[in-house]
Amino acid sequence: MTDPAAEATDFISEIVRADTARGTFDSRVQTRFPPEPNGYLHIGHAKSIVVNFGTAERFGGTCNLRFDDTNPETEDTEYVEQIVHDVRWLGYEPASVLFSSDYFEQLYDWAEQLVRDGKAYVDDQDGDTISEQRGGYGKPGIESPYRDRPAAESLDLLRRMRAGEFPDGARCLRAKIDMQAENMWLRDPVLYRIRHANHHRTGDAWAIYPTYDWAHGQGDAIEGITHSLCTMEFESHRPLYDWLLAQLPLPSDTPKQIEFARLEVTHTITSKRRLRKLVEEGVVDGWSDARMPTISGLRRRGYPAAAIRAFCTETGTTRTNSRQAIELLESFVRRELNLTAQRRMVVLRPLRLVLDNWPTDDAGNPVVEYFEVANNPENPDDGVRRVAFTGELVIERDDFAEVPPPKFFRLSPGKEVRLRGAYLITATDVVKDADGTVVEVRATYDPESRGGTAPDGRKVKSTMHWVSAPHAVPVTAALYDRLFTAAVPGEATGEPLDDLNPDSRELLEGALAEAAVADAAPGQVLQFERLGYFANDPDRPGYFHRTVGLRDEWAAIQKRQAK
Ligand code: ATP
Ligand code: MG
Repeated sequence: MTDPAAEATDFISEIVRADTARGTFDSRVQTRFPPEPNGYLHIGHAKSIVVNFGTAERFGGTCNLRFDDTNPETEDTEYVEQIVHDVRWLGYEPASVLFSSDYFEQLYDWAEQLVRDGKAYVDDQDGDTISEQRGGYGKPGIESPYRDRPAAESLDLLRRMRAGEFPDGARCLRAKIDMQAENMWLRDPVLYRIRHANHHRTGDAWAIYPTYDWAHGQGDAIEGITHSLCTMEFESHRPLYDWLLAQLPLPSDTPKQIEFARLEVTHTITSKRRLRKLVEEGVVDGWSDARMPTISGLRRRGYPAAAIRAFCTETGTTRTNSRQAIELLESFVRRELNLTAQRRMVVLRPLRLVLDNWPTDDAGNPVVEYFEVANNPENPDDGVRRVAFTGELVIERDDFAEVPPPKFFRLSPGKEVRLRGAYLITATDVVKDADGTVVEVRATYDPESRGGTAPDGRKVKSTMHWVSAPHAVPVTAALYDRLFTAAVPGEATGEPLDDLNPDSRELLEGALAEAAVADAAPGQVLQFERLGYFANDPDRPGYFHRTVGLRDEWAAIQKRQAK
């Protein structure tokens, strides 16, 4: 049997393996995924989820979902619920669902202790002054005039800050570390700020809120996290993370912070702030619009959780920031859907096709024939279905040309083509409306070609999909283009939203589908033959989002690059 813990070669697994071999943390492995509930999770978060839950899983450990809810103004329970749902949908069950706000009392007690130990003080200066005094690289920091005030005075002020005696921003609590430290985060960082804000869980109980740096490592320690996996921008915070933990009465094995590169994907963005802007300005229909890189948007679009997990795992975890091609992500989606999606025939832009020699029954009605078709040639377990065929059909408007351009092998007057799985037909004539637009194609079928092959073995170049007109069900199809035209949105102007694609969605309301499409479950993804994979909207059945086309663009890109 293979041992996932022994075989993983990513750098995080190497570190964890060495730690467990050494007996650090009693060889336990416990991670956490720590989102701030101020928006919906996106594809970048999926990477973090896969890294955190995946590492724990590999080493027989556990992973918590911890809401880092220390900024009351921007956070909301709507986001909390959505995030829990998205994590589960991705295929992971948190060992516990926890909140930084659960630790507010403990954090506060520890803060008082730091003050009593002379390791923190209340500063009466405003935020601008404090950041100015911080200095910069090669620029010395300036010590606050309040830095050496007696501990008892700081303690009294801290208690009054907590009691809500002072307005927002009037004072803050700072760690007393080193104003000349090379690392800016060690220059007396702020631990508490005054915010008279209602918190989605603690209500009005608190007038002070911990900063990220004061809450994060301590939350890790409280939960017994062994490896605190986060993105590269926190690398410079690590000395502060370690310093704060070292001041507290904790067991010797304190959590270890390990950073990895953020995941970015071409033609889209992973900034919650900017994604919120798209929502607020009505550029998209909410956080779960099928064009959004949010987990809920990708789900609506038809991306399988397994494909997202495979993409996040197989593209590797490193410490070098890079951007993955969206075509690669799509190829993971296609690979999964090829195995799982049942095939159907749907005509997006219908053109009537009438077979003049189609027989009628004794009552004078057109005969209806049924063809048995495999639901998914990749998976015999999906069985077969019956598809109705008659002399009145619809085909794709694009599949017919009255005057065929060069190399047009589909239907045109005098040409013979195959209607998939049914018959060979030859176009004979067209019917036009007053404007001269072709509204109907007349044709004849070869009764000897049932199933789509002629007994004389004559070659027919083109196979087209079709739908029997009297049996068709109307559906709406949404076709998508990239949400951003530029591969790296904002590369030219610095503002990603400058590169928004104004034509990212095309809605086709008159599509006609074979009858079985009406039975698609909400959220089910089908392959519409020759057109791509389409996901049935979970809230509006009959509204289909094109997930991806059928052509493997990633393979094409690689072939071009190899040349
Ligand atoms: P944003 O800046 O868009 O608000 P964030 O990093 O502030 O994102 P959080 O909710 O704080 O969002 O993120 C939760 C976790 O997900 C953090 O550990 C963060 O490092 C990780 N994360 C966020 N974006 C990415 C990304 N693009 N790639 C990998 N991990 C990410
Ligand atoms: Mg954050």
